[in-house]
Amino acid sequence: MVNKFDSLFEPLDLGHCQLKNRIIMGSMHTGLEETPDKFDKLAHFYRLRAQGGVGLIITGGISPTLRGRLAPFAAQLSYGWQLSKYKKLPDAVHPHGCKICLQILHAGRYAYHPFLQAPSAIKAAISPFKPSQMSNRQINSTIKSFIKTAQLAKKAGYDGVEIMGSEGYLINQFLSSKTNIRTDNWGGCILKRAQFARKIVSGIREKLGESFIIIFRLSLADLTEKGMGWNEIRQIANTLTSDGVSMFNTGIGWHESRVPTIATSVPNAAFIYATEKLKNEVSVPVIATNRINMPDVASQIIKDKKADAICMARPFLADSDWVIKAQNNEQALINTCIGCNQACLDHVFANKRASCLVNPLACYETEYDLSETNLPKNLAVVGAGPAGLAFASYASDRGHKVTIFEKSDQIGGQFNCAKVIPGKSEFNHTLRYFQQKLAKNKVKIMLNQNFDVAMAEQYDHVIVATGILPSIPNIQGIEHAIESGFAVSYLNLLRDKLQLGQSVAIIGAGGIGFDVAEYLATAEDFHTDDPQDKCYAEAWYKQWGINKDLDTNGGLIQAIQNKSHRKLYLMQRKNEKLGKRLGKTTGWIHRLSLQSHGVEMLSGVSYKAITDKGLKYEQDGIESFIACDNIVICAGQRSDNSLYQELLDLSIPCDIIGGAFKAQEIDAKHAIRQALELATKI
Ligand code: NAP
Ligand code: SF4
Repeated sequence: MVNKFDSLFEPLDLGHCQLKNRIIMGSMHTGLEETPDKFDKLAHFYRLRAQGGVGLIITGGISPTLRGRLAPFAAQLSYGWQLSKYKKLPDAVHPHGCKICLQILHAGRYAYHPFLQAPSAIKAAISPFKPSQMSNRQINSTIKSFIKTAQLAKKAGYDGVEIMGSEGYLINQFLSSKTNIRTDNWGGCILKRAQFARKIVSGIREKLGESFIIIFRLSLADLTEKGMGWNEIRQIANTLTSDGVSMFNTGIGWHESRVPTIATSVPNAAFIYATEKLKNEVSVPVIATNRINMPDVASQIIKDKKADAICMARPFLADSDWVIKAQNNEQALINTCIGCNQACLDHVFANKRASCLVNPLACYETEYDLSETNLPKNLAVVGAGPAGLAFASYASDRGHKVTIFEKSDQIGGQFNCAKVIPGKSEFNHTLRYFQQKLAKNKVKIMLNQNFDVAMAEQYDHVIVATGILPSIPNIQGIEHAIESGFAVSYLNLLRDKLQLGQSVAIIGAGGIGFDVAEYLATAEDFHTDDPQDKCYAEAWYKQWGINKDLDTNGGLIQAIQNKSHRKLYLMQRKNEKLGKRLGKTTGWIHRLSLQSHGVEMLSGVSYKAITDKGLKYEQDGIESFIACDNIVICAGQRSDNSLYQELLDLSIPCDIIGGAFKAQEIDAKHAIRQALELATKI
């Protein structure tokens, strides 16, 4: 069989060793690293990805020193007595022909504790702590610590290390004149600023010999003001190559950068221009990263010789068998990472274990049993939203016979609203995945079919996943406004593609209010549900001021305000910054985007009445009026659970999941995990 993605499966020769393919699982902190008894779970997590065909795994960032830890109890490898724990990871992946590198990461001024240190005592805007300036002695001892950690990694069986030199961490802080204003041998011209990185790389090469892999993650576009220029980057890359780097990995954007680099709205392979530029510069292999999540995009990059290997992190949370599926030409069966960050990075930043919205098994592999059931049942699932689809998928994996009933003409539920929001077309991937997976598992999907209790007797058990109904707040005049079409719910707007006027007030500023504002701010001809749409990508680069020519410092140019063609008002009753409760790693992107669109944001309002001409409200004790053409209601949801009540009344065996179970603050992450949990028990 001809493999459509064969470029991904050519071995990669590093001179002293070969990677069996071009697919690298990138560094990703899971939260399992810190707890000693969780290392077995971490080993199993990696084992499954190695079994799934990954060529090389890079671990989450491990600090070489106490002061370099990301947070007070973050992982550190500095002592021989720690080896038995660290050995578990290579032992888990090597039997599957997969190599593994330990990432060494010193946080520098990004460390979230008061003992942080940096080349110069300059506080990062995103940190509450000011670092102390490292003395000459401290610099030399930190270099030794990096080398010691690499030596310990080798002893533990790792094939190499990745030196984290990007994203604004310590090494990057030494490299950049923005954070390194030293006047001694470690600061000044680029060659002096690069001394710290060079001594680490050459020291590791000298101590560990030619056969040890050294990947250096180099910042190719800092995406910050006064960031490094390309001339500096190429000098660093060339000197580090002569010091013994085996491969360069692409680093994009410092953590303090205000440009999104990995969120859903970032176009596929958005930063490949930087990787390609480095590849033309150095003699060692170069790895591409950032928002590459499917084999067609990944293999094209290798075919076009824009990179030598592809590094993906979150896609392996979403699907441990990504590589096998690509190898078997089963791209359509890949459970694709949609870049939402909701269950991975947002969890890690909240000190919770990472998992995945579309794959709640990730990092919980040893805790859920999806083995085949001894008692296959005939199950009816009512509702084909994320909860119903996920339940059907897991239950059919276990050998149950499943039929889904959906009253509309398509599967997806609320995901059909999400996928039409500009920058969220990736949600199409999840719908495609479920469609393919359920077809493979022979799950029957009955569209345009209302399920009534009389049908229940044909089934052993009914799972109610009927979702939500939009809440309609109690505001004077709202019923008349809805009847006349002046006010509409977000569901009607997005599902029925209603055309609204030029001035719109949005009631409710949760995730959905923000999404609706983004949707209405963008001209209809820019609405696309193609994740690789070129016009969308070009507009996106301009909106965020990204300079693909890389001939400016930090790879940035003046952003072009992406002003909305509509006058939009986004409103909430809470007296706090709008979007404060959105995801930690993505909320700022939504806020900046709406600012760029010129959306007017009002908080602390109380709604007084809706008239034929607009909305009366009060703010700070003053009554005001917004004259507008339409009002969109995004004021939360209530459960659509009437079927469940009827089934209970008739004592028919049933369960309820997703928004039908609990509407408040329900999202796909909770709904899909709940579906998994029920499927393991039924
Ligand atoms: P939500 O986040 O709970 O927001 C509901 C909004 O409605 C709030 O702004 C609330 O603000 C307002 N509201 C509530 N009751 C109201 C009332 N009686 N009258 C007027 N306003 C009222 O829910 P959602 O936006 O519907 O989103 C549903 C779920 O999907 C959430 O879990 C959300 O996290 C998730 N989601 C997330 C994203 C994202 O992260 N980008 C996108 C879409 C959905 P006040 O009470 O202050 O007025
Ligand atoms: Fe990707 Fe979202 Fe899953 Fe994170 S939670 S791995 S971003 S799909």
